[in-house]
Amino acid sequence: MPLYRTEGICLRSYELKEADRIVVLLTRDQGKVRAVAKGVRRPGSRLAGSLLPFTHSRLLLHRGRELDKVVQCEAVFGFRALREELERMAAASYLAELADGFLGEKDPNAGLFPSFLASLHLLAGHPDLRHALVLVQGLLLASLGYRPELDICVHCGADLEEGREAVVYHPGEGGVLCGRCGSERKGRGTMTISRGAWQTLRRLWATDPGRLTMLRPGKAVRGEMETLLRATMIHRLERRPKTLDFLDLVLRESE
Ligand SMILES: [Zn+2]
Repeated sequence: MPLYRTEGICLRSYELKEADRIVVLLTRDQGKVRAVAKGVRRPGSRLAGSLLPFTHSRLLLHRGRELDKVVQCEAVFGFRALREELERMAAASYLAELADGFLGEKDPNAGLFPSFLASLHLLAGHPDLRHALVLVQGLLLASLGYRPELDICVHCGADLEEGREAVVYHPGEGGVLCGRCGSERKGRGTMTISRGAWQTLRRLWATDPGRLTMLRPGKAVRGEMETLLRATMIHRLERRPKTLDFLDLVLRESE
């Protein structure tokens, strides 16, 4: 069937000839889809409102050889706060760049859409945006299958020693290192986090996504979590997200 229905979230879009636009959508069951929205830049276009960045919509699409085409589109939730409030917009752009970068086209990932949608709700409505950012990065890594190993040493498999004040983490190896492997690799791409941050990260990935906001790390622990999550994202993505500098800038300005 060349026509199919799905739900999607617009990750980004760019202009095409005349009044058309290409939208990059994260869809519920087809993964990432690039589709042409014809005439969307004309005044009064019926598609325009429901294809704005971060809008969650119900779509009817026509499958094409190279590009699909948006036939119908109806907004489910507009996420206005993510377009109108600068800090929230910067945070959502960062999340969208990550999802866009991690996903290949039409590579379905059943867990990603609901988790991404929940993340947009957190970024749009959470009273503490820095807190929400830690939660959504945790959600994204988990739904992509990139959750770091925090229980045993990723190098030798030993259990992490009880009672250590600090834990060594290696973004490149995807998890924590025991005392011996940690000191052998010191300074070679490792980072050290406090026991408190390590415990809170374990809790982050053991908590049901719907109850994540119950997790309320203090400022210092949250800062460590943010550093670890970012380092993991950058390692997985193999580059620094372009939106990150802008996000840092607006977060600093809002302090
Ligand atoms: Zn080890």
